[in-house]
Amino acid sequence: MRVRGVVQGVGFRPFVYRLARANQLAGWVLNAENGVEIHLEGAADSLQRFVHDLPVKAPSAAQIMEIETETSSDEGFDTFLIRESENREQPTVCISPDLPVCEDCLSELLDPTDPRYHYPYINCTNCGPRYSVILNLPYDRPETTMQAWKMDHFCQNEYDDPGNRRFHAQPVACGVCGPHLVLNEKGGRLCGDESVLRRAVTLLREASIVAIKGLGGYHLACNALDENAVLALRERKFRKEKPFAILARNLEVAKTLIELSPSAQELLTSVARPIVLAPARVMLEAVAPETNELGVMLPYTPLHYLLFEAGAPEALVMTSGNRSSEPIAYKDEDALASLADIADAILVGERPIARRVDDSVVRDGVFGPQVLRRSRGYAPGAVARLPVSRPLLAVGADLKNAITLVVDGQAFVSQHVGDLDHYPSLCAFQETISDLISMYRVRWEDLLLVHDAHPQYRSTLYGLELPAAEKTAVQHHRAHIASVLAEHGAWETPVVGVSLDGTGYGDDGSIWGGEFFAGSVIEGFQRVAHLRPAALPGGDAAAQHPVQAAAGFLAQIEGLPDLTAFPFHFPSRYEDALELVHKEVRTFPTTSAGRLFDCAAALLGFTRGTTFEGQAAMWLEALATQASCSEAYPFPFENGELDFRPLLYAVAINRARGRDARQIARAFQRGVARGLAEAIETLAAQSHVNTVVLSGGVFQNELLLRDMKLLLTNTSLTIWTNRSVPTNDGGISLGQAALGGLQRASSSVKESAGLVSDTAVRYA
Ligand code: ZN
Ligand code: FE
Repeated sequence: MRVRGVVQGVGFRPFVYRLARANQLAGWVLNAENGVEIHLEGAADSLQRFVHDLPVKAPSAAQIMEIETETSSDEGFDTFLIRESENREQPTVCISPDLPVCEDCLSELLDPTDPRYHYPYINCTNCGPRYSVILNLPYDRPETTMQAWKMDHFCQNEYDDPGNRRFHAQPVACGVCGPHLVLNEKGGRLCGDESVLRRAVTLLREASIVAIKGLGGYHLACNALDENAVLALRERKFRKEKPFAILARNLEVAKTLIELSPSAQELLTSVARPIVLAPARVMLEAVAPETNELGVMLPYTPLHYLLFEAGAPEALVMTSGNRSSEPIAYKDEDALASLADIADAILVGERPIARRVDDSVVRDGVFGPQVLRRSRGYAPGAVARLPVSRPLLAVGADLKNAITLVVDGQAFVSQHVGDLDHYPSLCAFQETISDLISMYRVRWEDLLLVHDAHPQYRSTLYGLELPAAEKTAVQHHRAHIASVLAEHGAWETPVVGVSLDGTGYGDDGSIWGGEFFAGSVIEGFQRVAHLRPAALPGGDAAAQHPVQAAAGFLAQIEGLPDLTAFPFHFPSRYEDALELVHKEVRTFPTTSAGRLFDCAAALLGFTRGTTFEGQAAMWLEALATQASCSEAYPFPFENGELDFRPLLYAVAINRARGRDARQIARAFQRGVARGLAEAIETLAAQSHVNTVVLSGGVFQNELLLRDMKLLLTNTSLTIWTNRSVPTNDGGISLGQAALGGLQRASSSVKESAGLVSDTAVRYA
């Protein structure tokens, strides 16, 4: 039997061993590089029972994608064995994401009579670190960051005992033989797990900031309910307004912080243990300014449980250990250097982290769970199977970067990398590429590399330097649409695709971001409609200044009130930008929907600069969520263009008349949804399709999605959105992989170059 999927490092071989023994079967099981292989000998009915029970009784962390069974010759085994791992040319096994500490380990952790009582690195085959400790495949202790620790007799016996929960648990350790905690403070260095925990907890209770080494990097922690501590963290981290996530002691505490629907609770307690965004039940202005939502997660490492057990505040801010916008620190020396000015103490765990993995962020959305940042607990899981036979690397976009490696048709999407205009993130991007390429032992001479069409993207420039056999570009907004279709495995389904985001390089070199397409992954996507073009004074820099972006839209509208006066008070940046527009200096055409939202936010009072991407739109959504009006401002669709002029005029005039900004925000948002729905229905009828795809960063706006769903409910249209990868640019690489690997247009290029892939043949 060959079993494929997430079957290594999740207690699968011991499970197979026990199942085989229970059925009196002889043979062997081993970790092969494309999954697990099993050889069985025994009575026919026993064999049948085994085959039946294997998928049904598999460990909960295992994800079986495929089981292949064939008849084998009798090799005369009289017992069942776990064999040494093979090491073949190209591994395509799915690496397990990191797992939260399991119930069994948790009760041992808190049992004073257990040998691993309060041991912060307790784990077993059902739980603990995986992706964050793997140095090389196949997954075996010498290839993990636990290689430096030799097991003592106690651990070794458990490791060797097929009947034990820790049988072949690669990171197994105990207080005698394993790694420990160390606390670094200005005063000195503290050792001893219990003393370290007590001191860290004292500091947290005294409103200090403690850096804590986690599974995939360092966190900065402080008491979430202590405003001074949180504000001090903001100041020291240079993070002015972007919301912080909270680690809640348990589900009860989480429920006091956020409103949890049954499915949101399922996400919160799932093995991925992501940060769940949900409506806030308490106002914590310092933690999450100007939003109605809070991001909360539950403990997932033994250390988290121990901190709470030792008396840490019940709600801790847990934010990535870095300076604002840099990638999360994961190496001890980097953390000690870069976090020394931010944290009062640094809690270092001795077990090294193999690679950086941030916390994931999800929301229980109107179309189901929506992943906003895909990292710990999910990465590097395969999210789709593509019918491509050659290896393919898609390098993603420059914002919220993540990359996709396709090996043997399985699309492995990397953890969240970050924004590549920061040098440390660019290094992290390069590391992630070489990491995945070497882990899966892909050869550059076989590789198709796919990058964004933007010639100046750092990801493009770096991709073009790489020694891949072949390279191809995919346009940004088409990649967004294809990312959804890849998740659905829909290569030939004709759709209308709506791609709304802040920015992306268009076919004509202008800044796109409000695009409608018709087509399929195989046939490619034709741009069939778009937002009415506006001017973008100052180019991409306008993204940080809503009033600057507003100038480019408002310049087209006549009869507006004086926006520099009450109640608008636009700063001089607005008039400077208007001048650029009128003189057509440093001004670029754009169809960006993100900037349209910025413009409405500016009209409703967001006249300062933003301090993080998407801030103005989030602010506007939070405002609209507080209103109840059912009005929709006009956003007409004519001749393939959505005209923003009546929409923004209505916003400005109503504000000048003194209407409540929340009601105006609501009528704006509903107007946008109506306009989009109208455009979708028209385009779907024109191209005779009944499937609609929504993707792009603008669709992180939950209120917009809710309005859209309501408006399209009574039509015959099916709506698809992203599920496993983010709708923002974190999902771009998957779409690039699908279009770059499958589109007929690029296949024919390959053909003419004499490099015909199986796929090209299949679809030719
Ligand atoms: Zn466990
Ligand atoms: Fe985008």
